[in-house]
Amino acid sequence: MTDLKTIGVIGAGQMGNGIAHVSALAGYDVILSDISEDALQHGMKAIERNMVRQVSRDLINQDEMQTALARIKPTTVIKDHEAAGFVIEAATEKREVKEQIFRSICEIVPPETYLATNTSSISITRLASVTDRPEKFIGLHFMNPVPLMKLVEVIRGLATSQETYELAINFANRLEKTTTNAEDYPAFIVNRILVPMINEAVYALYEGVGTVESIDTAMRLGANHPMGPLTLADFIGLDTCLSIMQVLHDGLADTKYRPCPLLVKYVEAGWVGKKVGKGFYDYSGEHPVPTR
Ligand code: NAD
Repeated sequence: MTDLKTIGVIGAGQMGNGIAHVSALAGYDVILSDISEDALQHGMKAIERNMVRQVSRDLINQDEMQTALARIKPTTVIKDHEAAGFVIEAATEKREVKEQIFRSICEIVPPETYLATNTSSISITRLASVTDRPEKFIGLHFMNPVPLMKLVEVIRGLATSQETYELAINFANRLEKTTTNAEDYPAFIVNRILVPMINEAVYALYEGVGTVESIDTAMRLGANHPMGPLTLADFIGLDTCLSIMQVLHDGLADTKYRPCPLLVKYVEAGWVGKKVGKGFYDYSGEHPVPTR
């Protein structure tokens, strides 16, 4: 079994910076890349802010934080991933973007390097097929926010080898995550169930069944969910939710997965949730205010 030392993470958004964060705290050297210098800086600031929060809660100490931060090398140069034994892609949820990344990365890293995608919904087998090493390719679906959420869904593509699977499980365990296996069908387990529920909440808003606040309150207090579905959608990112619904709709060819037109409209407006400060709620003030 390969002894991993260096992890590459592609995409420094909310998931990529979270994966870099937990990997560095677990003792891995991390190369964190993004296509955008701004996103990279934003990602590094988020890691520091989240680690400071962990220090204030006595979950880690100051030394552990400084050591972990020093292990992360931010870069906009994809070639810097050549030193990584395992590269995890966490870029935007668009098949063409991910395929392009994997084509480029295969030209950079040595043949022994393993590859993973953090996709929420796209076929692992399909993404693996654009690489020169589908047997060394796997889906590792972390949950948001990565430092807090215990689960990692592990998804094998058609060609994924047992060795790759074991490497991925060992890696996730070293991050102190619990793994669950999902088969390679659209959106796997968590999002197959969760995102249609969110889409239904958007339909309830669209049809006037309830306001943003009444829908969230109903599901928090009526179904005992820790946060309402529209708040959760803002946390996930409405662009990501829409992409997942499109993958379910296309992949399962069932009209029950039709994305709600209001969800489409929010994405068209660029109101894609907390990461931009506005989605079903506006986050610019002290408290979130519904946008409808
Ligand atoms: P995000 O929008 O916060 O971040 C995506 C990042 O990818 C951005 O910083 C963007 O600049 C970067 N990027 C785009 N194209 C790139 C390229 N060619 N090379 C390098 N970087 C590039 O999105 P996110 O929420 O972090 O989601 C990332 C992935 O994780 C998606 O596949 C998503 O489905 C998945 N995911 C998201 C969640 C969630 O709750 N948001 C949960 C699990 C998995």
